[in-house]
Amino acid sequence: MSARPDPTDAPRRTPGGFPVVGVIGGGQLARMMQGPAVELGVQVSVLAEAPDASAALVVPSAPVGSHTDLEAVRAFARQCDVVTFDHEHVPADVLAALQADGVALHPSPAALVFAQDKLAMRERLAAFGVPCPRWARARSGEDVETFAATVGWPVVAKTPRGGYDGKGVRVVHGAAELADWLAEVATPGPLADGVLLEERVAFSRELAVLVARSPSGQAAAWAVVETVQTDGICTEVLAPAPGIDPGLAAEATATGLRIAGELGVTGVLAVEMFEVPAAEAGSAPAYLVNELAMRPHNSGHWSMDGAVTGQFEQHLRAVLDLPLGDPSTRAPWTVMANVLGGEHDELYSAYRHVMARDPGLKVHLYGKAVRPGRKIGHVNVSARSLTDARTRATHAADYIAGAIDE
Ligand code: ADP
Repeated sequence: MSARPDPTDAPRRTPGGFPVVGVIGGGQLARMMQGPAVELGVQVSVLAEAPDASAALVVPSAPVGSHTDLEAVRAFARQCDVVTFDHEHVPADVLAALQADGVALHPSPAALVFAQDKLAMRERLAAFGVPCPRWARARSGEDVETFAATVGWPVVAKTPRGGYDGKGVRVVHGAAELADWLAEVATPGPLADGVLLEERVAFSRELAVLVARSPSGQAAAWAVVETVQTDGICTEVLAPAPGIDPGLAAEATATGLRIAGELGVTGVLAVEMFEVPAAEAGSAPAYLVNELAMRPHNSGHWSMDGAVTGQFEQHLRAVLDLPLGDPSTRAPWTVMANVLGGEHDELYSAYRHVMARDPGLKVHLYGKAVRPGRKIGHVNVSARSLTDARTRATHAADYIAGAIDE
């Protein structure tokens, strides 16, 4: 017998019958959904890890609870019409229980697993012919030697789950180095299924394709962008990717849309890619897919100011199965520069300074405590010239971070 619905558990609709979107995780992505939610007239509610989590500071409905605590997540989901995510760390058993409860999860657990587990992702993408680096699942030293004999050292080793900003990724030059690294990063649990090995790709640059797909199958793609990484952390995004071969851009976009469709992704999907030089003179450069994220993503922050519909608005539209907005660019170039925490934790005077110096900046700060290297905000600049946009965005980001003082 099913339990009688408790009226206090019913989703709290806003006046006009507008729905509540629940976001599990109170990081900056959930925070940045709040502005578009206000404009769309929908309500966001956040299950935050702490009262001072980035999103909890700006979203009025932000109960505190862990994404690993099934009862907390369940109670939260009962208050929402649909549930989506700020990160990919919700455990499979929690997702399965929510699904059994009838919660509308976007993306679904069946899709999300391919953003949670890099081995599952490689297997699935290979099955429908998406270009990927050569890869193998290694469970033993012998597996490692066999793979390295095929692709050559060094190889790139990745923990299948839980990595971000390059943590969980290591270029290794021999079996002993791999064993040392695994001993350092792995508890026995997460690596029971093996470690992902990939050839080290000699890429010319990194690209990202961002698409959104709704439950009824409508999809939209933003311009292909270039992502610039420094020490494994994304520092800049150039939109669109400068000088990209039009055929490559079209193919990469088609692949992003195809992945979204094949995996049944709902919401925003980011497909990170490597651009590789043309195999022979006269042919076009090619791409290999690196990894997937099924949520708004750092490579799409530029779209908040540089596209007709930004990724946070589009994610809300998609998970609610509303018609999607126009993803076209608003300017010839938009550059996003991440503000990475430095030594200073007082940001406000630098913030005032950059605004006074350049009224065209769009500064987005996340309300997070400053720690060295932590992403605490970003700056978007749109301009007619790429050099202009890039110089201004990186200057402002570095100035706010305290990396430069003039
Ligand atoms: P994370 O999940 O931490 O973002 P990624 O798989 O995206 O990890 O890897 C982080 C970075 O490491 C990439 O942006 C890229 O610069 C580099 N990298 C990852 N895989 C490879 C590879 N197979 N060959 C060369 N570089 C790689």
